[in-house]
Amino acid sequence: MESANSTASTPETAATSNFIRTIVEEDLKNGKHKTVVTRFPPEPNGYLHIGHAKSICLNFGLARDFGGRCHLRFDDTNPAKEEVEYAEAIKDNVRWLGFDWGEHLHYASDYFEQLYQWAEQLIRQGDAYVEDLSAEEIRAYRGTLTEPGKESPCRSRTSEDNLALFRRMRAGEFADGAKVLRAKIDMASPNLNLRDPVMYRILHAPHPHAGDKWCIYPMYDFAHGQSDSIEGITHSICTLEFADHRPLYKWFLERLGIYQPHQYEFARLNLTYTVMSKRKLLQLVQDGDVSGWDDPRMPTLSGLRKRGYTPESVRNFCEQIGVGKSDSWIDMSILEEAVRNDLNVRAPRAMAVLRPLKVVIDNYPEGLTEEFEAANHPNDPAMGTRKVPFAREVYIERDDFLEEPPKGFFRLSPGREVRLRYAYIVKCESVVKDAAGNIVEVRCSYDPASRGGSAPDGRKIKGTIHWVSARHAVKAEVRLYDRLFTVPNPDKGGQDFKAFINQDSLRIVEDACLEPALAKAASGSSYQFERQGYFHVGSTSADGTPVFNRTATLRDSWGSGGKKE
Ligand code: ATP
Ligand code: MG
Repeated sequence: MESANSTASTPETAATSNFIRTIVEEDLKNGKHKTVVTRFPPEPNGYLHIGHAKSICLNFGLARDFGGRCHLRFDDTNPAKEEVEYAEAIKDNVRWLGFDWGEHLHYASDYFEQLYQWAEQLIRQGDAYVEDLSAEEIRAYRGTLTEPGKESPCRSRTSEDNLALFRRMRAGEFADGAKVLRAKIDMASPNLNLRDPVMYRILHAPHPHAGDKWCIYPMYDFAHGQSDSIEGITHSICTLEFADHRPLYKWFLERLGIYQPHQYEFARLNLTYTVMSKRKLLQLVQDGDVSGWDDPRMPTLSGLRKRGYTPESVRNFCEQIGVGKSDSWIDMSILEEAVRNDLNVRAPRAMAVLRPLKVVIDNYPEGLTEEFEAANHPNDPAMGTRKVPFAREVYIERDDFLEEPPKGFFRLSPGREVRLRYAYIVKCESVVKDAAGNIVEVRCSYDPASRGGSAPDGRKIKGTIHWVSARHAVKAEVRLYDRLFTVPNPDKGGQDFKAFINQDSLRIVEDACLEPALAKAASGSSYQFERQGYFHVGSTSADGTPVFNRTATLRDSWGSGGKKE
């Protein structure tokens, strides 16, 4: 059986424009820049999520479409929260999405010596000073949006004293938190970022990339702009919350007299029915609410991948939502529809019964097996066909039988006929129940003249259901994943998002019945289980049978108000 390949792929050229794309186009046309250089600058303090994918597609997409380059740069200034595992996962995710940074894998921590020299330069110029106040006092001195801040007594230290103290900070003479280096800007600035922000802090801790060379570390704001400058970034693209930091980056670059990349801000992706802050995602992992960063319910790229999302579906989603300048919310159904649209084209079809009900066809010869040829894709003959075995006992979906059918129910019920997909028309003759009155078996007859599924006399059969031969069925585990939260905005207004975890977000079906061809489904492949949804082989069980993760149902079952399967 063919399988959907969800690994390597080359991104298609993006078609739709956006305001940043227009700026790049202009800058290249009028010669402001010869080539476009962008970067994606994650902090390796967690796994990438779907919001990061928006930024990746934007930055790498511009480089791809305008023949420039995009760097992957780790803004790794906080060793307390960063780990090599995260950096490795980030590289893996970016590659999975289909992007390539070539030679340009960079680390802000590789610039630590340069940043240190620049800090000394600012001290010599009288633009920075060593602060003795505690973090608490610094906060108290900062003032508020309506009140100006208060200048620290340390602000009047001489350059010589500051330089000597800063060198002693580097030499490890002071304890964590005992001193910081601050920029001397303006304690009355309406922009709080300019009220003498901290540039360096003392932290006696090794760094995952730089090793144990340092016991002082630059703040993100003192590293980010200069890193862009060092790398010759032409369009420094970030999310809106950094607009207020732009004047600070500019101030540093101006005082240092180095190249100033232009910064452009776009609206971050907000997605309903999930949370996206790395801090909250880490909390879910640490509290065991999910199995890890790559749990298929997580909005992380590793999670989406394990769920069965393809890189194409994620890229198409990012393309579709566009890039704007004001914050907005995207409904989760848009993301789900993106993966449906992609898998609809690439996933072979198969039959699987998740809640089996046995059907015995009394007039079908015992011991006989017939094989029916089934198309792997209704619209793509190139995907080939497979043989599906049929015998006297088959499983159908429990939901496809009702003893007392309501009006409009066209599946199986007493005295009624239904088509078993690819096979025969069967009629329900009787029902077998256990002592408690539960239906345990349905007895049917079949019409031998309806081989292939059509009635020779032309009688109309409204319903077609899927089935799996009982004797040939492969028992497998199927994990039915659903949205992780029950409400659209679980972290609205700072409320406790964990109160809204969907307790039904994972239901495990231990012994689903699969058609035999699925026994060999390769890890990483995706299928459409007819009438049910898209399923992805996320792992294999001890005996080698695939374990399927449900990627998405066939239709949006949330939009209509009620949640179904
Ligand atoms: P989080 O808030 O989840 O911790 P972050 O912004 O701290 O994320 P970074 O590692 O700093 O995470 O992000 C790397 C890049 O991805 C930044 O340029 C950031 O602007 C961008 N980014 C982060 N979240 C989103 C989002 N939801 N939508 C678009 N871009 C995002
Ligand atoms: Mg950030």
